[in-house]
Amino acid sequence: MKKSFLLISLGIVFFGCQPSSKQNEGIDVGELVLNGQQEPTTPEETEVWEPQPPKVNVNPETGVPSDAIVLFDGSGFDEWISSVDSTAVKWTLNEDGSMTVKDKTGDIQTKRNFGSVQLHLEWRSNPESSATGQNKSNSGVFLQNRYEVQILDNNDNDTYVNGQVGSIYKQSIPLAMASSPTGDWNTYDIIYHEPEFDDNGKKTKSGTITVLHNGVLIQDHFEIEGTTEYIGWPKNEAHGKAPIKLQDHQDQSGVSYRNIWVREL
Ligand code: MG
Repeated sequence: MKKSFLLISLGIVFFGCQPSSKQNEGIDVGELVLNGQQEPTTPEETEVWEPQPPKVNVNPETGVPSDAIVLFDGSGFDEWISSVDSTAVKWTLNEDGSMTVKDKTGDIQTKRNFGSVQLHLEWRSNPESSATGQNKSNSGVFLQNRYEVQILDNNDNDTYVNGQVGSIYKQSIPLAMASSPTGDWNTYDIIYHEPEFDDNGKKTKSGTITVLHNGVLIQDHFEIEGTTEYIGWPKNEAHGKAPIKLQDHQDQSGVSYRNIWVREL
């Protein structure tokens, strides 16, 4: 969108008042060069002054941007419901401002529906867990209730790599294993763009996902293939906005979460 605006603006600047059928279209600078368009000779010709980006302030104590929706700050489950039956969340609210998966009470999800988002969350594996493989602090965050970014304790615990921590489950191996030591807090910063579907329900554009794990790029604009299935191929049924979901893997994972906020894109 912003790129298109810049290109349109450059097009207007380049073409000035000359009538052109391309004046209101996105015009590629590379194309202008190829077509022999005269190169600007002053810096002003390639300056764009509108629109001004909105100002966003980040709270120095919490790190939360001023335009973010806070989904969890430790004060309660106001933004969440049980995915099982839409009743109140049964996970444990801790005194330190975190929450912990309560085994076999089911996934939880946001009351609000979201499309494309920037999502921040912090999670911690369970230092008491003696489980191995996929049962060691397994949880996960699902974008639009369908696409899982895996959460797992892979410290000295190997599993299939397309299901390890930071994978897009069964679809994309993370570029790095950036986990904190077992029991320490991790951050996920996720940029997610929702898929697009035509009127017949056919997918016309894949969703994409970028993930920073503790500040390390582990998913780089990956094109999501469809739902992240435990068994079977990814599915691509049309959908609109949907909740963000956190997983109860039902194996006494004991994963905790804190400081969750989202910015709609
Ligand atoms: Mg999981």
